[in-house]
Amino acid sequence: MREAILVVPGVAMSEGAGVRIARLLGTQRLQLLDPFLMLDHFDSADASDYLAGFPDHPHRGFETVTYMLEGRMRHGDNRGHSGVIGTGGVQWMRAGRGIVHSEMPEQEEGRMRGFQLWVNLPARLKMTEPGYQEFPAASLGREARGEGVDLVVVAGATSRGTAGPVAAPHVDARYLDVALAPGARLEEPLPGDHAAMLAVYEGSVAVGGGGEVGALSLVVLGPGERVVARAGSAGARFLLLSGRPIGEPVAWGGPFVMNTREEVMQAFDDYRAGRF
Ligand code: MN
Repeated sequence: MREAILVVPGVAMSEGAGVRIARLLGTQRLQLLDPFLMLDHFDSADASDYLAGFPDHPHRGFETVTYMLEGRMRHGDNRGHSGVIGTGGVQWMRAGRGIVHSEMPEQEEGRMRGFQLWVNLPARLKMTEPGYQEFPAASLGREARGEGVDLVVVAGATSRGTAGPVAAPHVDARYLDVALAPGARLEEPLPGDHAAMLAVYEGSVAVGGGGEVGALSLVVLGPGERVVARAGSAGARFLLLSGRPIGEPVAWGGPFVMNTREEVMQAFDDYRAGRF
């Protein structure tokens, strides 16, 4: 059974042009969890917290995954791709060899909340063509197990065969959004060679034999073949994320994640020279 080996509270900060977020992964406390590089949570009903959005900025060498729990985000890139990620929808973007994009709220009021996850790419895919996997809420996998256990499957599949629409074979990513009623218990196998974590965003949950962890927190799971999570008296909602580590050197410079410092410098040069 996988136990909680580290609990990291979300760190409040500002991203983009001044959007208030809480960073769960990618802080000094835990810089990355191979193959995952970063996890941000945004949640506000105050438009001044999100209206500035994320104007044009580049990425190279990894994938960004935007999952909207509530609200709408408009996305556009320098290759002519654009669209809106609506409530419950997901956009899994491969930046590959380079993209310049903007992510701006498609709303001027109301609550906006969701997650952005960064997933690394192995060296052989870092300079691949950019691409998108985009799905509305209705396309995601849904599993109601009864006894207060409900799952939304974005990527990968559950032990009961509910599959998500996103394919991320390079790290065999699993991306589950789990809702537990008060006291409800999830038991789910996870591949033993996966890095795994829970991002608790509502209520509280006890993982393995550990104590309850409240929102907003990241729970890193230790080795094992399955996870057991029990919700506290207010229930729980959390992401359960796992993936096979890539096991390569990580050279990270701002919006570029490569294998060597030279490759990061090259990315800055290419971006400045308009080669994205
Ligand atoms: Mn971005």
